[in-house]
Amino acid sequence: MPWVEGFFGLRCPVCGGPLDAPGVCRACREKLIPARKGQAVYLGRYAELRGLVRAVKYRKNREALDWAAERLALQVQAAGFAAGAVTFVPTFPWRALLRGQYPPALLARGLARELGLPFQALLSRRRYTPSQTRRKPRHRLPQVFAPRAPAPARVLLVDDVLTSGATFRRAAEALFSAGAERVCGVFLAVADPERLLRLPYNRPEARR
Ligand SMILES: [Zn+2]
Repeated sequence: MPWVEGFFGLRCPVCGGPLDAPGVCRACREKLIPARKGQAVYLGRYAELRGLVRAVKYRKNREALDWAAERLALQVQAAGFAAGAVTFVPTFPWRALLRGQYPPALLARGLARELGLPFQALLSRRRYTPSQTRRKPRHRLPQVFAPRAPAPARVLLVDDVLTSGATFRRAAEALFSAGAERVCGVFLAVADPERLLRLPYNRPEARR
């Protein structure tokens, strides 16, 4: 009766096969190797990792999250990304309340632990309102993130899924305004890895 196994969480969230290791099955553990592209690392494409993302997000699969953090940390080290802190792309407070614990924050915490770096909540998220855009020049992105604290020169910015890259772009810009010079990305899943080549990883020269 597969649904009973599913109910008890004994199916691998990636392949749907029997779960023979904590969080993610052994076959998927061997198959999923984080990749680097641009100044970012990611575990896999969203199309392949949809089940894992959902398990982490809605079913609180902490074993899968801890495993992913461990694997991503190894790739961050291999890529040579230096950082003074690990932070995450925040959500609105009400969503965090609904979900209990917020996956990007948990992933960032896990990475910080693996890498021996400080975990810091450097950003807060503001609700986007039309009145805010009217006051801003058209070429500027609406500012939905605000720094909560001064950022170190190099930051690892963690999110669970990268889709268009617009959210990462805005969060990185908030970190640049808070003092960061380089922001490297760490993602569980990426919709289109080519987008990783077009993200802003360095503070623009003009603002230095
Ligand atoms: Zn599997």
